[in-house]
Amino acid sequence: MPIVRIALPVPIPQLFDYTAEDASHEDIGRCVRVPFGGGEKSGLIVDLPVDADVDATRLKAVRHIQREVSPLPADWLELAAFTARYYHAALGEVVALALPPGLRRADAVRDLAADPLLAPSAAGAAVLAAPRRASRALRLLQHLAAQAPQRRSALRAHADGEAVGELLRKGWAEVVREGAPLVSGTLPILTAEQHAAVDAIAATATGYAAWLLHGVTGSGKTEVYLRLAANALAAGRQVLMLVPEIALTPQLEARVAARFAGAEIVALHSGLAEGARSRGFVRALEGHADIVLGTRLAVFAPLPRLGLILIDEEHDASYKQQEGVRYSARDLAVWRARQRAVTVVLGSATPSLESWQHARSGRYRYQVLSQRALASALPEVRCIDTRRLKLDEGLSAALQSAIAARLEAGEQSLVFLNRRGYAPVLSCPACGWVSTCPHCSANLVVHLADRRLRCHHCGCDGPIPRTCPSCGNHDIQPFGRGTQRIEARLAELFPRARVLRVDRDSARTRAQWEALLATIAAGEADILVGTQMMAKGHDFPRLTLVGVVGADASLHAADFRAPERLFQQLMQVGGRAGRAHLAGEVLIQTEYPEHPLYRCLATHDFDAFAAMALDERRSAGFPPHTFQAMLRADAPLLQDAVAFLREAAAVAAGLAPAQVHIYDPVPMRLTRLSRRERAQLLVEAAERGALQSFLGAWLGALRGLRTPRTLRWNVDVDPLEV
Ligand code: ADP
Ligand code: ZN
Ligand code: ZN
Repeated sequence: MPIVRIALPVPIPQLFDYTAEDASHEDIGRCVRVPFGGGEKSGLIVDLPVDADVDATRLKAVRHIQREVSPLPADWLELAAFTARYYHAALGEVVALALPPGLRRADAVRDLAADPLLAPSAAGAAVLAAPRRASRALRLLQHLAAQAPQRRSALRAHADGEAVGELLRKGWAEVVREGAPLVSGTLPILTAEQHAAVDAIAATATGYAAWLLHGVTGSGKTEVYLRLAANALAAGRQVLMLVPEIALTPQLEARVAARFAGAEIVALHSGLAEGARSRGFVRALEGHADIVLGTRLAVFAPLPRLGLILIDEEHDASYKQQEGVRYSARDLAVWRARQRAVTVVLGSATPSLESWQHARSGRYRYQVLSQRALASALPEVRCIDTRRLKLDEGLSAALQSAIAARLEAGEQSLVFLNRRGYAPVLSCPACGWVSTCPHCSANLVVHLADRRLRCHHCGCDGPIPRTCPSCGNHDIQPFGRGTQRIEARLAELFPRARVLRVDRDSARTRAQWEALLATIAAGEADILVGTQMMAKGHDFPRLTLVGVVGADASLHAADFRAPERLFQQLMQVGGRAGRAHLAGEVLIQTEYPEHPLYRCLATHDFDAFAAMALDERRSAGFPPHTFQAMLRADAPLLQDAVAFLREAAAVAAGLAPAQVHIYDPVPMRLTRLSRRERAQLLVEAAERGALQSFLGAWLGALRGLRTPRTLRWNVDVDPLEV
């Protein structure tokens, strides 16, 4: 009886053997349901071994194999295996993450196809010319050749579903494109820089090439993506386009859809209903989808005709998954481009220092778009020195009058603040009490609209107390500033202005977010108060002023990546100002107006900032000059987490080669989260290979350790949060 080897979502790096009466090699890459423990689990067939790992008579039989959709191809299994290897996760966990839940459960996938037109393919024509043995697929192919093209439903009526599936699996028939031309609408005339970028990148289209497309905000990177995508589609290839957060970029989705009206575009992100996600995934898998547009999980879309990968805003931290399998979709996308010998384009106005370094070293090719596509110049950036100023709810007089001038001119202003809520904390001036979360080492944030105190880490919330819970004082005050408080003050200062707050609270759903964007675009708001959501690629033609409040904290943060993030964020948010034909201005309120980071911003000099930051990283021995992994542990008691990490460090000492450096365990900055105490241990090496082989041996040894039941641990390779 055939044996199938299955990857199951369990946190140990092990595969499981089962028997399957009718299994063949064609079932590798298919989803299955199997009995496991007392219940049932879903997994993926990854091999058909001749012999089982255990006594074959003890093997159980699989319950169900999903055969209605094509199996995942070998290159997809390689991608999953690489992900498991590199991030030191179990293959079954990677599979569970990469496959849509419905498909993985081996559920039926409904409404898969509109009803495509089919015709014999080149392979089919060859078979017809020299038919070998008679089969039902051959009979159906002959029928199709006589009538072609035919709808799939018509073929199904003639033979049966299985025969049609067989025909497609053998590659004897293919979908005939119908209807509208691929590219539609009038195309803008490319700028000289766009033209050069498209030409240069297109010239490497025949094999693997990684490009960093460094284009200032508004330089028209998207237009470059669209032209390259058009080339790939015209060559009959599929395009994978990754974006950091699809809910925030409906404009991009609309632009892609408008440009490629004749193409099949599939959106893939975690916000989709299960059925839609499975359907999109299978459309990609079976080669129907022309463009897959999605967030980080879309990097796992199977794409048999893949020809181009585009990564928009490649610096964005949301490409790194922060839980479970902690993969970087950007890095996997580059790996995939190499695997499939296709071009990958990493685009950003503010590239990550990692990618920037690759471009410097020649590992990535480099194209720059230094000019905005539309006539307007980059905004003027100035610092407002707040050291000797009295601020009104955090707003300087200079910023207020700049806003007033915009109101006068009928233009929009944005006050950018990287914090949510009315105020970070509620505090008591009498006894010093502050509102801390009972489960986390974080402060609760005041939300005035619904009068709640809310933890932004674990989500727990409660009513705002009327008196100090510690001393009974009636005069407890919100301390610090948040978007809601600034919104309230701006409304007082400018009673005739329409003030609109844009943050995670006012845009909880995609519909709310789109409504806000529409309000702004229609010019129905005068002053916007926003958080980092506002920094992502939107076009607001009437927005001409960005005021930045409270940015200094990131200059001196403990995290070595904080300045890089601040620079990126301010450059991105500044890029919102003056996108169309109006001139833009950015005013940064700061106590450090001479800081080199702000000076580089003022001169729009990313290169100078990157050189400075890379120098600092080099002398401190931080990435990208070194490679890191973080072992994290959490338990109800901090001492348990730390004790485990100490033991892990002792094990490492016996295994690590000289190039691998093991730090001491430390509590995490946010130590307590959801009633668990967390600590971490950093491992660093000058070479990726040395780090990887050490991790393999070390984590293997750690899995054998006896640990308290309540302790959990995980590893984060190339961590972003340290
Ligand atoms: P980026 O993604 O680099 O920030 P976009 O692709 O969003 O920039 O382009 C900025 C604006 O310039 C958009 O409104 C876009 O339609 C316009 N644009 C881009 N390229 C051209 C061009 N060649 N001619 C005219 N307008 C262009
Ligand atoms: Zn008090
Ligand atoms: Zn909490």
